[in-house]
Order: sequence, then C-alpha cells, then structure tokens
Amino acid sequence: TEEKSLHFIEQIVEENLANGFPQDNLRFRFPPEPNGYLHIGHAKSICLQFGLGLRYNAPVNLRFDDTNPAKEEQEYVDAIKEDLQWLGFQWAEERYASDYFQQLYDWAVLMIKKGKAYIDSQSSEEMAIQKGTPTQPGVDGPYRDRSIDENLALFEGMKNGDFPEGSHVLRAKIDMKSTNMLMRDPLMYRILHRHHHRTGDDWKIYPMYDFAHGESDYIEQVSHSICTLEFVMHKELYNWFLDQIYDDNKVRPHQYEFARLNLNYTVMSKRKLLQLVQENIVNGWDDPRMPTISGLRRRGYTANSIRKFCENIGVAKRENVIDFSLLEFCLREDLNKNAPRVMAVLDPVKVVITNYPLDKEESLDAENNQEDESAGFRKVPFARELYIEREDFLEVAPAKFFRLSIGNEVRLKNAYIIKGESVVKDADGNITEIHVTYDTDSLSGSGSDASKRKVAGTLHWVSIAHAVPVEVRVYDRLFIDEAPDSHKEKNFLDFMNTNSLKIVTGYVEPSLKTVAVDDKFQFQRLGYFNVDKDSTADKLVFNKTVGLKDAWEE
Ligand code: ATP
Ligand code: MG
Ligand code: MG
Repeated sequence: TEEKSLHFIEQIVEENLANGFPQDNLRFRFPPEPNGYLHIGHAKSICLQFGLGLRYNAPVNLRFDDTNPAKEEQEYVDAIKEDLQWLGFQWAEERYASDYFQQLYDWAVLMIKKGKAYIDSQSSEEMAIQKGTPTQPGVDGPYRDRSIDENLALFEGMKNGDFPEGSHVLRAKIDMKSTNMLMRDPLMYRILHRHHHRTGDDWKIYPMYDFAHGESDYIEQVSHSICTLEFVMHKELYNWFLDQIYDDNKVRPHQYEFARLNLNYTVMSKRKLLQLVQENIVNGWDDPRMPTISGLRRRGYTANSIRKFCENIGVAKRENVIDFSLLEFCLREDLNKNAPRVMAVLDPVKVVITNYPLDKEESLDAENNQEDESAGFRKVPFARELYIEREDFLEVAPAKFFRLSIGNEVRLKNAYIIKGESVVKDADGNITEIHVTYDTDSLSGSGSDASKRKVAGTLHWVSIAHAVPVEVRVYDRLFIDEAPDSHKEKNFLDFMNTNSLKIVTGYVEPSLKTVAVDDKFQFQRLGYFNVDKDSTADKLVFNKTVGLKDAWEE
C-alpha cells in the first residue's frame, strides 16, 4: 500500500524523535468538554489524536475537560465514550480534569505565595474596562497589590463557600500591558455554587479552562497537546502556567494547533446543536439529520466511512470549508461494497401481468451484492400483481424515457421482460393500475435467447401479495443555507429547512421481515437505507441514509 505523506504534526513528532525525544515519552489526549454530544468536527480531532497514538504506539488519554459544572452532565460523558468506541478507538486512560481539582488548588495557592496570583474583588464590568483593548494597554486594578496573606485568606474563604458568586476571582498576576490580551491578568478561578456531576458539592470554586487545561496535560504527561487554531493566542498563557509548576525531570507538554473541520450546510457548535435539541427542532442529539456522531450513526453512516473521510480531508494549518458531499462520497464507497441489495418501492403503483396465471407464484433468485461474491443469492417471490414506482411509468414516453410506457418493454430486475398494454384510471384520471404482458421466455439468468434481449431499462418491483409495508424516513438537509451561522444580521435558526423530514409508507420484499436495528441495505435504484431504532416487530422503520450517485447505473 502506498504511504501517504506525513501531515505537519506527524512531521513535528518525527523531528522531535530525530532530535532525541524518547518515543516512550510520547503521549496524547482527546479532551472533550462533556457539555454535548460529539459531532463530525470532533471526529477529525479524534482521528488525528488516536491516529498519532496508533502510528507511534503511544497512549492516548480520554480526558473530560469538566471544569464548568453549569453545562456538564453524565449523559454527555456516557455518549462521548460510546461514540469514541463506535468510531473504533480505545483510549489508554479515562481521566477527568475534575480529578485534579485538589492539585490545581494547591498549585494556585503556591502561585499566590510566590506573588503570581491575587484575588480581585471588583465586578466583571470594572475588570473588563481595566483590561483595555487590542490597541490600548490595560491598567492595574486596585486589588493587584493585595498582600499574600490577605490573598491566601480570601482564596480559602472562596473555597469554603464563604462568599457569593461573582464577589471575588483569582487572577494570574502577569502583565496588564501585554500585547496579548489573554495575558492581562487572566482569571484562574471563579466562585460557582454549583453541583458538579462528579465532585458533587465539594467545590465552591472552579478553575478556568486556560489554567486547568495545560496543568492537566502536565499531570498526565501529555507530550503533544493538540488543539484547534482558535487557541493560538492561548499558547503564551498555556506556557506561562506551565512555567509556574514545571519540574525539569518531567515531560513538558507543547501545544500545537490545527485547522478545525468546517462543513457546509450544517452547524457544529455544541451550543447551537443543543439549541436545536432543546427547542425540539430535531428529535434529540441522535436525530438522523444532526451532524453528531450519534446522529450520523443512526442515519446509517459507518464508522469506517467517517474515518475514511477524516483521512481524506487531512490535517492542515489553514481553515477551509469541506463540502458535505465528500462525507457522502466516503459513505457510498463503503456501503456500495458492503450493503446487500434488496427491492423496495416507496411510491407504489399497481401492475397487473394479464398473461401471468392467476394463482401462479414463483420464487426467483436474486444476487445480494454484485460487488461481493461471497454475499450469495436470496429468493424473491414473483406473482401476477406487483408494485413498481409511480415515476417509472408514463403512458406516453418522451424521448430517452427508459422506463415503462404503453407499447414499450422493460425488464423487471431478476425476473421477466414486460410490455405496457393499457391503464385503469379513477374518476379523477389518476392511474390505479397498469396492465402489462410478459415474455414468458425472458426470465433473467435462464440462458434463453429471450433472457438476453436488450430492452430500454430495468425496474425494481415487489410482489403485492408478499410485500411488507414499512415506514421510510426520507431526509433532506437541515439547513437551506451553505453557512447558516455566518450571517451577521440573521440567526442560524432563520435558515432551517422546514421540509427536512418526509415520512412515507414503502413496500419491501419479504426477505426484510427479519432485519435488526441498524442493518443496512441498498434499495435498488433508490439509495442506501438502514433500520431505525424505532423499529418494532409489527412496524419496521427505515432511514434513507444517502442516495445513489447514479440511480441508473444498472
Ligand atoms: P464546540 O465549539 O462544538 O463546543 P469545542 O471545541 O468547545 O467545540 P470540545 O469538547 O472542547 O468542544 O472539543 C474537544 C476537542 O475536539 C478539542 O480538542 C477541539 O479542538 C476538538 N474539536 C472541536 N470541534 C472541532 C472541529 N470542528 N474540528 C476539529 N476539531 C474539533
Ligand atoms: Mg473546548
Ligand atoms: Mg465549546
């Protein structure tokens, strides 16, 4: 197999190794905040981090960045683990930033003692004003030179719950005139009288992300801390916090940034996805229209196709927008190889084969997957009355209409050649039956001369007497705009596609009676479909996963 060229982070690791960095010290982490479900953007980060782990035989921790109890829940922790495993990755250790609350507190105390942190008791508005702007330096606030003893006493009081939320914060004492706004005495701790999903009511103060993240990397001895580009400006602060605690004998983590994944026709911020869920615009985080891993899974995406997609888009330092169709391309490639072919009719019209005996019934051989010889054959019942798709018939065929019409022949897949003879209409002129005759000698695979006759097209069908009615959910894009969250004057919710879900009754061949949830099929000429979790023994429910690239290929 041909080796792809190394992406820039692999090149950095290779360089580190060449310069003597011990391979045994390589360690990575995937650090989700459990404030929502994972989405396809996370998959890019996951494939990157775990890909490095596999390539260099190095551990990759799953670290929950759970420092904000206001937004985090156990449900999200569980979902994240399930999605990661489904994607096919196994973490070395399951860690939580909240496991480090005591250590982080102790380090904060140490920093106060060294004069590197202080308690500020102003309102956030006052602090914001003193912070200045990108072009204007900040100014020192009135509490910046509080005594170490007073700082220690206040910090302990904060920890013990002596003060209301918002009354004090702990700030790093760096430089209010720094050109990097993030270095102007950033917050390290705030008071939150909140219940935490793991530490309960133990803590009344919670560390800020910038403080907790780098120190957590250090605790876990992560060598390469990989994050997305919006953290470029945070690196200086990341390093400053490490400087305060770093011990020469340990591995010092380094931060590297790559471009996040942007996909068109969707949104990926967890805050926005949460809004879709909370406002019942979709049916939960795993709604098949969602760009979440669980939504894609329920829609019928395979883990393999998502990994392949991440491999194809690569890892770079410049942001761009990837076309959703690339994800669908990777999916089709996988399903084309692996999904058995079956016949289903979603918009039925009745066909009567007038020269086929009334009580006759045949059991015909149908190939399960021409892309996979080992998939074998199945039996499909054939009889006098069938359903075909309504759009596969026109009384009078225009030029290049390769389907059924009066006086013209088509082949029924795996069966016979039929010829349109006449139609039956209701009072409104709608066609209720199509009467056809069949060429008795033309059975597919029989080897007869008639079986080899070339006709204009091949149609899928189901025998009415044997067909199983099923619910089919057909999806369209969730948004009508390519970049729904990029508009200054409008909200992303202004671009919802109000027709993104259509529910129809379809008729499937009886071999599908025994399917299980998430079984995947190609409904011939229609697309790929999988069995939804809402299916019951009495009523099967299918999701349309994705259409066929070329519905007329066969
Ligand atoms: P969101 O804005 O959707 O809430 P986040 O970055 O806040 O995303 P985290 O749970 O902190 O979500 O993300 C965990 C990891 O996944 C981080 O390292 C983050 O950089 C990465 N990540 C998140 N979104 C993307 C994306 N669109 N492309 C690549 N990586 C991403
Ligand atoms: Mg984050
Ligand atoms: Mg976020």
